[in-house]
Amino acid sequence: MTRIWNFSAGPAMLPEAALREAQAELLDWHGAGASVMEMSHRGKHFTEVIRKAEADLRELLSIPENYKVLFLQGGATLQFSAVPMNLLAGRSADYVVTGAWSKKAWQEAARIGKVRLAASTEAKDRPADGFTRFPRAEEMDLDPRAAYLHLCTNETIHGVEAHDESLLPEGAALVSDMSSHILSRPVDVSRYGLIYAGAQKNIGPSGLTLVIAREDLMGHAEVIPRLLDYRVQAENDSMLNTPPAFSVYMAGLVFKWLKKEGGLARMAALSREKSARVYAAIDNSAGFYRNPVENECRSRMNVPFNLPTPELEAEFVRASEAAGFMGLKGHKSVGGIRASLYNAMPVEGVAALVDFMREFAARRG
Ligand SMILES: *Cc1c(COP(=O)(O)O)cnc(C)c1O
Repeated sequence: MTRIWNFSAGPAMLPEAALREAQAELLDWHGAGASVMEMSHRGKHFTEVIRKAEADLRELLSIPENYKVLFLQGGATLQFSAVPMNLLAGRSADYVVTGAWSKKAWQEAARIGKVRLAASTEAKDRPADGFTRFPRAEEMDLDPRAAYLHLCTNETIHGVEAHDESLLPEGAALVSDMSSHILSRPVDVSRYGLIYAGAQKNIGPSGLTLVIAREDLMGHAEVIPRLLDYRVQAENDSMLNTPPAFSVYMAGLVFKWLKKEGGLARMAALSREKSARVYAAIDNSAGFYRNPVENECRSRMNVPFNLPTPELEAEFVRASEAAGFMGLKGHKSVGGIRASLYNAMPVEGVAALVDFMREFAARRG
């Protein structure tokens, strides 16, 4: 068996230990005589699985008691609608656009209700790659009466990350799409009203969406499908209907692995080291590799970069696949190359990538 170095942005690499644990108990979970895929979500076995997953997640992120943890479906994309449906309550919300994902969230929310653009860092002359930084709070045109302020604190496609949450604006409840950097560093959950994330980047398999919501923000929705109503989901322990049981179980195995590996402080240190190595390979390539993001906003999770020509980029992707790497092709909307460095990517994988980048630049530069 060979597992290759998988730099895909998502669905992404999972920790090998979690996969092995799932493999070992796939046919018979803890003596139940069935796998987690095959048991009632209301039975005692799955109840134990989902309770343990929530308890471990609460411990990892130090989630305060007045926040609910919801295990939902529909991906981060459905949250683009669910957030305004639940939180607007006839008011208006502010959106900060820093890349493709927050732009999508803003556009989707505009279909639901009244939203304002508090800031956009899009360079209009280069629409495809024109997001290179996270704006400072003073640059945002904030409505003091806004129901919430929506952010994406790590832009997966453009590689822009808000590193210091103490610099985020005070005032309206902060709502953050953390799909691609949740669990990569400690987070002060109390700074946010609501955090959401699709699982397939840094949590587990696709099909699961995590929502962490402050209790007082829930229950104000007007007409809304019950399945999308945070209050109803919280009252039903995320089991109004059948939850994505296997994905919840796999996420639980990842949480267990994270605790064993030293938690989020350890993941933060590792992600700094891994991303620093890739950015150094870019910056020390005499211009062969280029990343346009401002230094202090460069993402630790997703490192997009370009080569001198699209032809060289295509050759880089082909050569990387031949050399045992996977998932380095950039997002179709921006092209180029992207290396995603989530928790499951070991330092050795990054070292191998950096060696490959140096060798490729020496040969084709
Ligand atoms: C991947 C991603 C999404 C979309 O997630 P789905 O689960 O496919 O809906 C939204 N936001 C961010 C930041 C992402 O990385």
